[in-house]
Amino acid sequence: MEYRKNDIVTVQIDDIGNDGEGIGKIDGFTLFVKDAVIGDTVEAKITKIKKNYGYARTEKIIKPSSFRVEPKCAFHRQCGGCQIQAMSYERQLLFKQEKIRNNLIHIGGFDAEAIDKMMEPVVGMEHPWRYRNKAQFPVGYDKNGNLITGFYAGRTHDIIPNTDCILGTAENKQILEAVLSYMKENHVPAYREQTGEGLVRHILIRTGFASGEIMVCLIINGTKLPAEKELIKKMTGLSLVETTPMEDADCRQGETEEKNAYDKENAAKKKIVSISVSVNTERTNVIMGKEIRVLWGRGYIEDSIRILGAPEESRIKFRISPLSFYQVNPEQTEKLYSLALACAGLTGKETVWDLYCGIGTISLFLARYAQKVYGVEIIPQAVEDAKENARISGIDNAEFYVGKAEEVLPEKFAGEGIRADVIVVDPPRKGCDDRCLETMLAMKPERIVYVSCDSATLARDLKVLCGGGYELRKVQGVDLFGGTVHVETVVLIQRKDT
Ligand code: SAH
Repeated sequence: MEYRKNDIVTVQIDDIGNDGEGIGKIDGFTLFVKDAVIGDTVEAKITKIKKNYGYARTEKIIKPSSFRVEPKCAFHRQCGGCQIQAMSYERQLLFKQEKIRNNLIHIGGFDAEAIDKMMEPVVGMEHPWRYRNKAQFPVGYDKNGNLITGFYAGRTHDIIPNTDCILGTAENKQILEAVLSYMKENHVPAYREQTGEGLVRHILIRTGFASGEIMVCLIINGTKLPAEKELIKKMTGLSLVETTPMEDADCRQGETEEKNAYDKENAAKKKIVSISVSVNTERTNVIMGKEIRVLWGRGYIEDSIRILGAPEESRIKFRISPLSFYQVNPEQTEKLYSLALACAGLTGKETVWDLYCGIGTISLFLARYAQKVYGVEIIPQAVEDAKENARISGIDNAEFYVGKAEEVLPEKFAGEGIRADVIVVDPPRKGCDDRCLETMLAMKPERIVYVSCDSATLARDLKVLCGGGYELRKVQGVDLFGGTVHVETVVLIQRKDT
């Protein structure tokens, strides 16, 4: 049978695509079905036909999957930020496990049996909501010209008003509403993308979950905000304590008493400590501008992360500015970095390289247990932050270089003869550059720990490393992004001849 666009078909969903979509077959013809959950039977409308497959959208659920749950967010279909919110959390974790496994087998060429033997279950969250410490909300107008903020509808730049994304903190709502009321009262226009006119483009809010410190940064299409004082008055006048999600006992199941007490005490101190503007006058999709101007308080927030199993005093402190990269889910980040640290197997004698080190997060975890840590990061500001973070955490055995990992590493190794017992990498989604991988092999570290946010490029790079004398020892996913299709993976590989 021939299928055409707009045809309505009934399809049973028996697989999940990489982007969380349902996959089903009708007469052997594969359909990728948006908003369908594995196990569903749905009525779907075909939206696009290719030669051997097509795309469709769920119109009606005929028989719901046993993995289907009631989505917590009313906007989840329009938003597209949480692709798999309608799937039970356990099934989400299994999906992520399978995604990593499949990539290692199909892209990495690893043996399925070997993978199954060493792969541990994905580390999930206790409570997969309100976990994000950072959010960027676009500001604009609705059809009637009312000022709104919320999120872009999937694949568009139409703003759907919603000040309470349930991945973000409960305080975001209060802050966003206060910014909108400041804008209305002082006739501050929102930016209009089509014309490039107007002023306020985005509102960035970052929260230190352990410290309670909050940063508000308005990204503006201009250099100055009218009636700045009024904004400051609104922000500093907010009382945020009552709505703190940390009070929610549900959020904290399974945590130690000590950690609970620490976080509760600090969360109770939740307060805005930094108000700034970021100047972005370019007509671009890039959210942040390069120039940050502090209007009130500090230019940064501080936060800290605990090394699991270590005493409270060994927390690593971070200074986070509006432009710094910092993992968005601090609770799971503790688990991720602690796992990476355990894989590094440090005894205190090792020289360790941390490539793609950002603001030194993993580097400083490692430094507590290594003789020397070298971090490499391409963004100069992040390296400045890394040095400062080392200082405020009382760490003096970490050194940081600005540059590309694929350039700095060969230079320091071939040029200066600096060696490595352990190398940790945590690259962006595109993975490591070939030259970086080659140098890593030439340095012959005993162990390599690969932290990855994209298991496809991870598998590709592991194929090269394992082809060069290393073998896979441990694979474990950590879920930092509940409701979405993303997952972090930590892999340990070991040199064969040791
Ligand atoms: N390990 C850090 C940062 C990981 S994100 C953390 O967990 O917080 C990846 C980092 O790699 C970013 O900070 C990015 O700026 C940096 N980066 C991207 N390409 C790079 C390259 N070629 N060489 C070095 N760093 C790079």
